[in-house]
Amino acid sequence: MIRRTSILKKENILYIVLSYILSTLVAVFVYLTGGTSSAFANLMYIPIATISSTNGKLNGAIHAAICGLLLGPFMPVDSNLGIAQAPINWVIRLSIYVIISFIIGSFSDFNKRSKEYITNLLTHDTITNLKNIEAIKREATSKDERKTIIALSVGEYEEILSFFGYDFTNRAILNFSEKLKTILSKYKKVDLYRYDGMEFVIVITHDDKLVNTDEILKALKSMHKSTINIDDIPIYIEIIMGIANVEAGITILEGVRQAIVSLRYAIEKGNRMEVYNNHLDNHFMNVVSIANEFRVALKHGAIKAAYQNIYHSETGDIHGCELLSRWVSDDQSVYSPGEFISIIERTELINDLTKHMIDKAIEKLLKDKDKNIFVSINFSPKDFKDEVIDYLIDTVDNHNVNPKLILIEITEDIFLKKEVVIGYLYKLRSRGMSIAIDDFGSGYSSYKYLSEFPIDIIKIDGSIINKIQYNHVSRSLVKSIVEFSKVNNIRTVAEGVENVEVVKVCRDLGIDYIQGYYVHQPTLIN
Ligand code: C2E
Ligand code: CA
Ligand code: CA
Repeated sequence: MIRRTSILKKENILYIVLSYILSTLVAVFVYLTGGTSSAFANLMYIPIATISSTNGKLNGAIHAAICGLLLGPFMPVDSNLGIAQAPINWVIRLSIYVIISFIIGSFSDFNKRSKEYITNLLTHDTITNLKNIEAIKREATSKDERKTIIALSVGEYEEILSFFGYDFTNRAILNFSEKLKTILSKYKKVDLYRYDGMEFVIVITHDDKLVNTDEILKALKSMHKSTINIDDIPIYIEIIMGIANVEAGITILEGVRQAIVSLRYAIEKGNRMEVYNNHLDNHFMNVVSIANEFRVALKHGAIKAAYQNIYHSETGDIHGCELLSRWVSDDQSVYSPGEFISIIERTELINDLTKHMIDKAIEKLLKDKDKNIFVSINFSPKDFKDEVIDYLIDTVDNHNVNPKLILIEITEDIFLKKEVVIGYLYKLRSRGMSIAIDDFGSGYSSYKYLSEFPIDIIKIDGSIINKIQYNHVSRSLVKSIVEFSKVNNIRTVAEGVENVEVVKVCRDLGIDYIQGYYVHQPTLIN
C-alpha cells in the first residue's frame, strides 16, 4: 500500500512562494517593456514549469491560471499605445498555460508516485508488509523520547528453511508476524519491524507516560513453547529476546543494534532473555578477535592435532584414534576446542580447520601404515559442501591411503540439514569411508533419524556413559542403543570412559569400543 504524505514539505512551499513572486515580477516586467506583444511574455513559462514540476498538476494548474490572468484582461498588447488585448487572446494563452502546467505536473506526480512506490518497496518487507531494517535506517534521527527496543527471535529460520523450503517458511513468518501484530495491537506507540529471517524488532516509545513494557514482555513470553500450524504441520515457537533501554537522543538504529547484540548473546548462552549492557559489545569484540587470531594461528601452524586412542572393549587392542584440534599459543599454552570451536564453527574458517585436520589425519595414517588403525575426523554441519568433501576425497586419493581407515564424526544437529548432507554422506561411503554419529544421547537422539542416515558407528556421549555404573536409567538407555545398533549392523563406542568400573559395564553391555581418559589421554602430535 502506498502511503501519501499530504504535508507540504518546506522546500515545496519555497518553490510555490518563489514562483508566485516570479510570475508577478514577469507581469510587471511585461507591462513595463511594452505589453504582451513583447517577447518577454514568454518568461512566464519559467515559474509555470517550476511550480508544476515541483508541486504537481493541481498546484501547477492553479498557478498557471493566475499567470494567465496576470497577462490577461488588464494587460495591454501594447502598453505604450494603450492597445488592449482581445479576450480570445488571453483566454487562449491562459488555457495553454494551464495545459502545459497540467502536462508537466502529471509527469511530476507520476515520478513522485513511482518514488514513493520504490521507497515503500525498499522500506517494507514483502512477506509480512511490516517495515524492515531499511525503514529503521531511514528513521534513524535522534528524538527526545526514551525507547525500549526488543529484538525477538521466534524460531530457527535456517533449520525450518532447509527442512521445509521457502514457500512454507514464508507462510510461517507471515503467521508469526500476524500473531505478533495481534499481541501488540493493544498498545499505542509500539512499532513492529521485520528484521531478518524469523527475527523481529519492536520499538516502544515512552513519551510523557511510560508504556507498560513489562506487560508487553509478558504477552510476548506467553508465546514461548507454543506451536503454530502451517499446512497442519506444527511449528514450535521459541521466544528469545534481546532488550535495549535507550535514552532520549540515541538513534533508533543504535538502539536496534544494542537489542540485536543482546539477542545474539542470549542465543549464544542459551538464555531466553538478555538486557543490553556495554560488556556485551566487548564480548563480541572478543569473538571477532578470536576469529581473527585463529585465522593467523592456522596459517602459522599454531593449530595442532592431538590424537586419542579408541580401544576394542574385549581385547584391549587399539582400534583407532580420534583427532582433536589444539591451539598452541606463542607461550606454548595449549587451548582446547571448547575455547574457540563454537566461534570458528559460525564462520567459514571451520572449513579451513577441517581441511587442516584432514591433512593431519593423512599424516597419521601414513605414519601408522600397516597397523590398520582408524583415524576419526570431526566434521561440522558447515563442512558439508563440495569444497571440503572434494578436498577429503582428493587428498585421500593423492596420498594413496586406505579410505576404509577414515571415519567421519558428525553430530546430531546434522539431522536438521538432511537434504544438504545426505548426498555427501553416501558419496563418502561409496569411497569406502565410514560415518560415526558423535555425542549420541546428548541431543535429539532419535532412532528415526538414525535409520534415515548411513551410519556405521554410534559414539555414545560421555555424559551417559559416566553414569552407567550407578544410574539404571542411563544403563537401560545405553542397553537400548546397543540393541538397536546390533540389529542395524552399527558398531558402538563408549565415550568419556573415566574409570575401570565403567569399562566393565561397557563390556557387559556389549559396547564394541571404548574411548576416554582412563584408557588414553589426548596426546599432541608434533
Ligand atoms: P568430541 O568429538 O566429543 O571429542 C571428545 C572430547 O572429550 C574431547 O574434548 C576429549 O578431550 C574429551 N574427552 C576424552 N576423554 C574424556 C573423558 O574421559 N572424560 C571427559 N570428560 N572428556 C573426555 P576436546 O578435545 O576438548 O574437544 C571438544 C569437542 O570439540 C569435541 O568433542 C569435538 O566436538 C570438538 N572438536 C575437537 N576437535 C575438532 C575439530 O578438529 N573439528 C571440529 N569440527 N570439532 C572439533
Ligand atoms: Ca568427536
Ligand atoms: Ca563425542
